[in-house]
Amino acid sequence: MHHKNGDIRRVNVNIAATTVENYRKLKQAGIGTYILFQETYHKESYLKLHPTGPKHDYAYHTEAMDRAMEGGIDDVGLGVLFGLELYKYEFAGLIMHAEHLEAVHGVGPHTISVPRVKKADDIDPEAFDNSISDETFAKITACIRLAVPYTGMIISTRETEKVRTKLLRLGVSQISGGSRTSVGGYTQEERPHDTEQFDVSDQRTLDDVVAWLMENGHIPSFCTACYREGRTGDRFMTLCKNGQILNCCHPNALMTLTEYLVDYASERTKEIGFKMVENELERIPKEKVRKIAKDNIDDIKNSNRRDFRF
Ligand code: SF4
Repeated sequence: MHHKNGDIRRVNVNIAATTVENYRKLKQAGIGTYILFQETYHKESYLKLHPTGPKHDYAYHTEAMDRAMEGGIDDVGLGVLFGLELYKYEFAGLIMHAEHLEAVHGVGPHTISVPRVKKADDIDPEAFDNSISDETFAKITACIRLAVPYTGMIISTRETEKVRTKLLRLGVSQISGGSRTSVGGYTQEERPHDTEQFDVSDQRTLDDVVAWLMENGHIPSFCTACYREGRTGDRFMTLCKNGQILNCCHPNALMTLTEYLVDYASERTKEIGFKMVENELERIPKEKVRKIAKDNIDDIKNSNRRDFRF
């Protein structure tokens, strides 16, 4: 998919539970991660929340990732909506789901998302007795990080800047920026509010979020290399579990960050970013990798060449 400064390199898909055949079609179409949130693992609550309709079948919904893997999709993303049921139950369900995928298919979840019940047009979080405090939410995040150390953890713009800052230190590895949750929201200059799925607490632009990450000592990475190099499923898991993936992640983060800085960033973000890239390059332990990354970064800055990766 072509965009003005290059290609959209990865498309993750979040759709309702479907058949093995449809998952196979998605795989053949080249999707990245297939994401489906469980909402709640508690069967009784699930059935109460979905009294009719296509999502009503608890088993069909809960076994969706097994069918996705049968259809050949080996990067799947789990998530539970904390606040619908007792968090201890949901936490145990989530970890057991991850354990099940690893035991049966040899591949655990590529990502785990941690959304909480938030205010929306037709939802008042106060109406849910099981809503959790920021402190409990932080503990859950840390426990997921310890229990499933190889997974990418995702936090959305539903959470405030303050909460996101804390959770990044406790194991969250992927965050969104400049998100819009209304239909057609990205096609308009101003953020439309009328059809939003939920309130976006962190309303900063992507550029602000990138600068903020760097100011907090994190390297914002736009890397999609693994999926494009075929490092998915159990191949990815092995590299991730033994820590060798860092040899790719670090230089790839610096190269993709440089692309972002050159193509999209504000002057302020560029200033912080180029300094970070320069310092971080020196921390790449292998001389050969350091030299290649430096040369590629020079190329990105001085030419139209893009999309280098390890
Ligand atoms: S190299 Fe690292 S950052 Fe890049 S896609 Fe793989 S795991 Fe993610």
